[in-house]
Amino acid sequence: MIRVLVWNEFYHEKTEEQVRSIYPDGIHAAIADFLGKEEDITVRCAHLGMESCGITKEVLDETDVLIWWGHMKHGDVPDEVANLVRDAVLDGMGAIFLHSAHHSKPFKALMGTSCNLTWRESGDSEILWVIDPAHPITRGIDRFFRLSGEETYGEPFVIPNPDKVLLIGNYSGGEVFRSGVLYERGNGKIFYFQPGHETFPTFYNESVQLIIKNAVRFVAPTYRATVTCPHVRTVNDESYVI
Ligand code: ZN
Repeated sequence: MIRVLVWNEFYHEKTEEQVRSIYPDGIHAAIADFLGKEEDITVRCAHLGMESCGITKEVLDETDVLIWWGHMKHGDVPDEVANLVRDAVLDGMGAIFLHSAHHSKPFKALMGTSCNLTWRESGDSEILWVIDPAHPITRGIDRFFRLSGEETYGEPFVIPNPDKVLLIGNYSGGEVFRSGVLYERGNGKIFYFQPGHETFPTFYNESVQLIIKNAVRFVAPTYRATVTCPHVRTVNDESYVI
């Protein structure tokens, strides 16, 4: 079983009626709902209002894939929590950062850049084009899928060159954006996925759900250990013992 932890800021759903009407139990609950129907996935949730944001080393040790959604309250996540997430990914935990999590502390810590982008809320529609149809994360999508409304994100997206760009978003207002990008950091795999603005029902879209399900399976750890920096003797030393 792949153990998923869905983390949500859980702010807009409590303060804006429009968002609450789409995600009455929170964005995390909507994501946990479709992931929880998969036979090989178990899901837990955590949010900003919990003690230590619901994230401790013990919780992360029991998490194979962390999914992160945040927007307005990135600064309220303690640096210690962000560092725990970063270190867990470096050890091998998988991570999926959704939409405005591009500015979250753990994502920025793992990227090392500003992760800035251009944006606009004007009700643009979006076509997400598959760049690599053979990749496990885009499997089942064919060439593209459409979202009738999304917040517009545009280039330049100030991220390191991805190991793979899997999806390009093209908005009706003209922008393009690297909407699905993949990284390895240490032993861990990281997928950033752009759709998911809180005023649109994006997480009920079947193609979005398929990509997140595929991504959970892809970034799940295959090896997990802290790689340290030991001073070692030569293997030819007769006293060398394994
Ligand atoms: Zn947004």
